[in-house]
Amino acid sequence: MKRVIMLADCQSFYASVEKAAHPEYADQPVVVAGSPERRSGIILAACPIAKSFGVKTAETIGESLGKCPELVVIRPRMRTYIDVSLMITKIYESFTDLVEPFSIDEQFLDVTGSLQYFGSPEEIVKQIQAKIMLATGVWSRVGISDTKILAKTACDNFAKKNPEGIFVLPKAEVSKHLWPLPITKMFGVGGRMTNHFLRMGIHTIGDLAQIPLAKFKQMLRARMGKQSDIQAELFWQTANGIDDSPVSPGTFSNGQKAIGHGMTLPIDYGRKEDVEVVLLELSEEVCRRCRSKGYMGRVVSVGASGADYDHPTGFSRQMTLQDPTNITKEVYAAVRTLFHRHWDGQPVRRLGVALTGLSDAGTFQLSLFEDKEKLRQLERTTDSIKNRYGSSAILRASSLMASGQARERSAKIGGHYK
Ligand SMILES: [Mg+2]
Repeated sequence: MKRVIMLADCQSFYASVEKAAHPEYADQPVVVAGSPERRSGIILAACPIAKSFGVKTAETIGESLGKCPELVVIRPRMRTYIDVSLMITKIYESFTDLVEPFSIDEQFLDVTGSLQYFGSPEEIVKQIQAKIMLATGVWSRVGISDTKILAKTACDNFAKKNPEGIFVLPKAEVSKHLWPLPITKMFGVGGRMTNHFLRMGIHTIGDLAQIPLAKFKQMLRARMGKQSDIQAELFWQTANGIDDSPVSPGTFSNGQKAIGHGMTLPIDYGRKEDVEVVLLELSEEVCRRCRSKGYMGRVVSVGASGADYDHPTGFSRQMTLQDPTNITKEVYAAVRTLFHRHWDGQPVRRLGVALTGLSDAGTFQLSLFEDKEKLRQLERTTDSIKNRYGSSAILRASSLMASGQARERSAKIGGHYK
């Protein structure tokens, strides 16, 4: 393999974090669910024991209790999960600086340059799995390949199903492993596209891969119109294991030099207070990374998107600040402004924050406002504590939204309790 790319996924992430926090439930079926006091609450995560009773995510608590009356139902603590996710990012970053979060419990790693220090890809995975288990109690499964999409495919379809939690799917073996899979398992193919493909007589990924590209473009045009050429090319490349996209920590803003952080939420967020908590966490993480790398940025970007791949909603917008900064308070103020200016109130599933227009923090002219330097010093201190003890060591008071009447509101994130 030319590049060695991994997609690492956490098993039953929220449920595993809760089981680590509650050893008394170790041998019991545990789920994390919204509104546990109501049978209509939705299951966000189920531990493997609960799953063995047939309990599934996205069903209601009532349905789960029908299958497993002794189920332990736990209220979600989103902030804790975000903190554990960032802690896991730190572990990955001890193996490579090329780490790209894909969702709260899935991250891409490019370890091509790390093999000489840490051993074979499988050896690296074993070290990663052991470190994450020790630090968080979470079991991780890892797909390995030459490309991001194949690494993700290897994880979802194979690594999750074997006891080692490791699967290698080299690009040279796509016809053996990728092609027999049903077309609905292909990356980027949602329910609507699956229906199109089935009606076109394409049942497996191999069926698509083996159609000559020019012919496939014609077939898709006939169904979806002329503007489908680019989509056709992407699908065809995916089916053939072609994907040059790099693992880059700043991917969120399309490959320009950026420091960014994105996160997929477990459910749709519709209330602005809930979204703001996540935006603040993301701003904090981006600024902390900027500070540790000695950068400041002038351009702040915010992206938000809905859950439905087939009917994309959302926006990605940026604004240029007067002075470059890496101060969380300043970046978050811009992030908030952008979000409120462009959000149409549609449910949000994925959020991202990035800083671009980066410059060296050392060349920053002393601002006329000297508390800027004070703020910067304060944040350097909190950073060093976080770097040493993990990011949950210090919580920003304002991130608890501890303003007066907001007490009840602050107890919930995404309609869930922290
Ligand atoms: Mg997972």
